[in-house]
Amino acid sequence: MESDGFFERYSRQILFSGIAAEGQRQLRAATAVVIGAGALGAVHVETLARAGIGRLRIVDRDVVEVTNLHRQILYTEADAIEGIPKAVAAERRVKAVNSDVEVIGIVEDVNALSIERLIDGVDLVLDATDNFETRYLINDASAKLGIPWVYGAVVGGGGATMTVRPGLTPCLRCLFEVMPAPGSAPTCDTAGVALPAVAVIASIQAAEAIKLLSGRPELLHGGLLQFDVWENRWVRIGLDGVLERGDCPVCHRRQFEFLETPGQHATTLCGRGAVQVTSSRPVRLELTGLADRLRPSGDVSVNAHLVRFRTGEIEMTIFADARCIIKGVTDPAAARSLYARFVGA
Ligand SMILES: [Zn+2]
Repeated sequence: MESDGFFERYSRQILFSGIAAEGQRQLRAATAVVIGAGALGAVHVETLARAGIGRLRIVDRDVVEVTNLHRQILYTEADAIEGIPKAVAAERRVKAVNSDVEVIGIVEDVNALSIERLIDGVDLVLDATDNFETRYLINDASAKLGIPWVYGAVVGGGGATMTVRPGLTPCLRCLFEVMPAPGSAPTCDTAGVALPAVAVIASIQAAEAIKLLSGRPELLHGGLLQFDVWENRWVRIGLDGVLERGDCPVCHRRQFEFLETPGQHATTLCGRGAVQVTSSRPVRLELTGLADRLRPSGDVSVNAHLVRFRTGEIEMTIFADARCIIKGVTDPAAARSLYARFVGA
């Protein structure tokens, strides 16, 4: 039975017929994972925590930086100064906002090796990533495990979103079978991004999440929505008949190419002037020992989550899963070389 506090806290949502008491109960029993705790993910986390979701998993590989603050509404200047991992800061924020939510922040890279474990057991996946490779990976894993997910992407003053329910609606590859080639689309690196555009797309994603998790799938918008809040374009593309074509490698042939091929080892990070290098094998680094080994070669700081190492124009942030973000380089091969030199392949 719910306490009086439950009805008081959520009284305005329970009054709202789109959710009501039964929806609020279902939401409290639900689990979602937010993949990426950047601009979109910050809105997802804040909205779902305040709305009263039962359990929330937040996965992100980055640390908070001052350049995030104009659009990533979970974070403060203190988080950026501290250089705290976003997943840790987001978990802390949720606990402060709504202590009823069982929240866990996971500082980890999402790749072919990790995704099924990271989304296992949830009722819904929210896409808050900034790259196609991870979205195609989410699409494969969600179809394989039968978990709905909500696609969202933003750049400049606009973006797009779609809700995928495996077996019931078209998936990402039903619409875009071939992943866009690197460099073929604008990114936040080349075109920038504005918070109101993020908030529109992320809020629609969060609304779709609440509809699904509160037991009202008939309220889903059922299309591919595209918005540009600077150019004032609002488009809904209907998806009737798309799934029925029967030619999707994921939906119809159950070929999960992105799960079966390991991701890139080195990838340029959006908007960062940096490259991330990942290990193809699941490993755990002993951070204190690594910091000791690096100390003769440059400036080193270490905490429970990461080692930060500076030498010349290069700054390397090395996480316990052996992942490394290297600032000061943009060439993946040069980054792999630095990784091999300082961390060890
Ligand atoms: Zn499909």
